[in-house]
Amino acid sequence: MDRHDIAVVGAGPAGLQYARELADEYDVAIYEKDSDITDRKKSTGGTFPEMMDEFNIPESLAMAETDEVVFVSPDSRSRLNVDGFVLEYGDFLEYISEEAQNHGAELNLDSNVTGYDTDTKGAINSINVDGEKVEADLFVDASGPEAVIAQDYLGLNPNEDDRWIGVEQELRGGYYDGQMVFEFGDVAPGGYAWAFDAGENTKVGVCWSKEFFRKQDGEGTLQDYLQDWIAQLELENNSVEEVHAGSAFSYPFDVDRSDDRFLAVGDTVASINPLLLEGIRPGMQSARYAAEITYDAMEQSDLSARKLRGYDQKWAEEKGKSFRKQKLAQELVYQLNEERLNQFVEKVDELDENLVEDFVHYDLNLRDMWQIYPSIKGRDLARVGRFISK
Ligand SMILES: Cc1cc2nc3c(=O)[nH]c(=O)nc-3n(C[C@H](O)[C@H](O)[C@H](O)COP(=O)(O)OP(=O)(O)OC[C@H]3O[C@@H](n4cnc5c(N)ncnc54)[C@H](O)[C@@H]3O)c2cc1C
Repeated sequence: MDRHDIAVVGAGPAGLQYARELADEYDVAIYEKDSDITDRKKSTGGTFPEMMDEFNIPESLAMAETDEVVFVSPDSRSRLNVDGFVLEYGDFLEYISEEAQNHGAELNLDSNVTGYDTDTKGAINSINVDGEKVEADLFVDASGPEAVIAQDYLGLNPNEDDRWIGVEQELRGGYYDGQMVFEFGDVAPGGYAWAFDAGENTKVGVCWSKEFFRKQDGEGTLQDYLQDWIAQLELENNSVEEVHAGSAFSYPFDVDRSDDRFLAVGDTVASINPLLLEGIRPGMQSARYAAEITYDAMEQSDLSARKLRGYDQKWAEEKGKSFRKQKLAQELVYQLNEERLNQFVEKVDELDENLVEDFVHYDLNLRDMWQIYPSIKGRDLARVGRFISK
């Protein structure tokens, strides 16, 4: 039977970053069900310079550097001067996995985690990997929306309505030079469609929340909408290099992120930003907060729920308030009709430089958010009321 200080489930950005933070000090093993670290076809890899700096990610892992975010609605368009990167996602994962391994982490591919066992007090004491028990002092669930341990151990009960789903094709041919384009409206009801510069390729996709798609009377599948979006773009070359797809939960409110001998990071506990569904940066940040508490807890040999709760507190301090605001914005923006989407996009165009910075860092305060919001209607206030009372 394998035994480690820390066992991590899942080698996405959150699990790998967590291992990268701690593998110098502790014996960390990662269990990933896929057979190839670069075979993770589930993200566009759009990100911002702050992520690259914060986590020391070399710019050479980017397929393109962008300098403009464009928002499009049926009859309006706004351009914001915002720098970004579109990562070669497989190379990015390989890079953080190599870093984690260079620090001493053990990476186990083809290792499917199917459940866990507890001691007599109910605390997790082993996980099941392909039918074998793996013991550790601490277990970290970074398995993304599957939440393979956290679902039961933390008692998560996600509502399918809160699930966002997305699909993307990476097409050959470089278009949208320097741009990340987001289009809202009928092109992806209850979500958005995108087209990102990816160097010699272009990444185009659609996503939506199941709840908002239904409320916006969407009909059909992601594939149908993706094909329509690609047709609308009229690119010279539509040959497909890769397909990326997946899902993530965006819960209305925060959930527990830790328990006895256990932490959950990244999409496992809905760390994705509610407004534009950027998940890489906050997922890695959650891993860093979890690693800080782990270090403290291991030094004090105290892996109790009470001690590890420090991670929940850190998340609440750093992200709680901002995510709640973004979640409210999500509820409002993705239910706008065409006319009001046009107003919204026009107002975004009027943001001054400082507010653009705040927008990108999800730091807009409520007053600024109202400034870019179209004229308020009674149903908006009802939605705000329902949101506040939850
Ligand atoms: C189509 C699409 C486009 C996106 N575009 C962007 C973007 O441009 N920018 C951005 O910031 N975010 C984007 N996101 C979101 C971002 O990819 C996620 O938020 C991020 O990947 C979350 O990281 P994670 O490590 O928490 O989970 P994941 O990346 O989901 O990693 C979880 C890992 O756990 C493994 N796993 C699952 N179950 C088990 C098991 N039973 N046993 C062992 N291993 C298991 C999985 O194989 C996976 O490797 C996109 C998502 C999708 C679907």
